[in-house]
Amino acid sequence: MSTLVWLRGDLRLNDQPALQFAVARGQPVIPVFVLEPAAPWSPGAASRVWLHDALAALGQAFEARGSRLLLGVGPPEVVLAELAAATGATALSFNARVEPAGRACDARVERALGARLTVRVFNGSLLLDPARVATGSGTPYRVFTPFWRQVRALLGNAEPAVLPAPTRLLAPAVWPATPSLETLALLPQVRWDLPLRAHWPASEAAAHAAMARFLDTAIEGYPTARDLPASAGVSRLSPYLHLGQLSPQQVWREVHLRAAGDGRMAPSAAALSWLRQLAWREFAQHLLWHFPATAQAPLRPEFDRFPWCEDGPGLRRWCRGQTGFPIVDAGLRELWQTGWMHNRVRMIVASFLTKDLGLHWLEGARWFWDTLIDANLANNTLGWQWVAGCGADAAPYFRIFNPLTQSLKFDPQGEYLRRWLPELAGLSNADLHAPAQAGPLSLLAAKVRLGQDYPAPMLDHGLARVAALARLKASKRC
Ligand SMILES: Cc1cc2nc3c(=O)[nH]c(=O)nc-3n(C[C@H](O)[C@H](O)[C@H](O)COP(=O)(O)OP(=O)(O)OC[C@H]3O[C@@H](n4cnc5c(N)ncnc54)[C@H](O)[C@@H]3O)c2cc1C
Repeated sequence: MSTLVWLRGDLRLNDQPALQFAVARGQPVIPVFVLEPAAPWSPGAASRVWLHDALAALGQAFEARGSRLLLGVGPPEVVLAELAAATGATALSFNARVEPAGRACDARVERALGARLTVRVFNGSLLLDPARVATGSGTPYRVFTPFWRQVRALLGNAEPAVLPAPTRLLAPAVWPATPSLETLALLPQVRWDLPLRAHWPASEAAAHAAMARFLDTAIEGYPTARDLPASAGVSRLSPYLHLGQLSPQQVWREVHLRAAGDGRMAPSAAALSWLRQLAWREFAQHLLWHFPATAQAPLRPEFDRFPWCEDGPGLRRWCRGQTGFPIVDAGLRELWQTGWMHNRVRMIVASFLTKDLGLHWLEGARWFWDTLIDANLANNTLGWQWVAGCGADAAPYFRIFNPLTQSLKFDPQGEYLRRWLPELAGLSNADLHAPAQAGPLSLLAAKVRLGQDYPAPMLDHGLARVAALARLKASKRC
């Protein structure tokens, strides 16, 4: 007799309702992760690397509690049924997920195992169960601000209880033989992953350390620093929230606990502005849960027949950070080298792809999917549809970011540009944002040969803007 705990995007021991359920049953606990067969939006290359390290760290954490993290490969309804038979499990618990393929898989597991095992599903990855949050007329939210008001009203200013990690776990008399982490082959054969992994320790403890660092040092400056990609003004918690080394409840609670510790009834305005961003994550999950087709199709149906362009070479230059627009290239190189990109720059590069190049937002979403370690279907879909103008509460399509003004405004000293484009580091601040406008002597002095050391701009932003607006007009005639 034992309980299987199926772990997925909740790779932690603290605040882990599915695990707590198993512990409370007083029987041996069998934690298991299953690498599922490829499905639409299966983890991309960078996410697989992140998953590898997170599983290694979680395995160690289970071992420190006298337990193990078992691994499986294949359809979960088959792998879990085999494990249940091998261990004499009488129950299965897991935390719900929102991705359409994941939900379909969970339903299959419940159907396949529900007759033989007690199956319990919990909310472990969201502040609120999406089914609980609805407008006054009972429909899903499509606009963020009222959604945020509702989240605050439902959660209030109290610190939500979070579940402590178990100190010891009952182990079965014999552990079944299961594949090793290496068998899952999550790491690439060509080892591009090492520099990326150096940026991101994957354990639950590292997630807590990152949260503490941000709350100790940066949160009060967040409203102003959050848009400056060179600064340490954001938390960089998205990879941990994605794989669940940290839950949003833990974040919410920690912010409220600190406010109470300072004798305040509610978090400061700066802290609230950060929690508001956390609620954008919640909003994204809410939207994907209610509108599962949006992972592939625009939420706003008038964009169904939008005349997106095709430009393979243009897409390749964008992916490689070779557009000749420094702020765009810096962002894409940050992404390639670290598996993460600052939110302000995500918006700039996404606007460039969908408006200047006129490419379908899914082209960009797929590249992010493969290269981000925080690649999260709900957040990525929301982000791309927001920029492209075809999603919920989106920026209007005609809002087209000017890469030069964005660069001057949000990286005035060029620190971010110099960090990711060392070939331009010798240019003055005035020339750095648009090397093609620098005089030949300045370029010579900085040892920059346009077209050789750094590309000339691949397009004229003014003309591209006019073409983008013409596409919008044409789409309205379709
Ligand atoms: C085109 C595009 C694609 C994106 N793809 C992803 C993605 O795949 N995965 C992902 O986690 N985020 C995505 N985002 C949202 C956002 O860029 C990241 O969540 C943020 O940059 C993470 O950095 P941080 O942890 O320092 O955020 P902070 O500013 O410290 O915010 C704290 C947390 O709030 C959440 N959050 C903040 N901003 C947003 C937002 N705009 N939308 C949703 N949640 C938000 C994240 O979970 C984040 O970790 C995307 C944004 C855009 C414009």
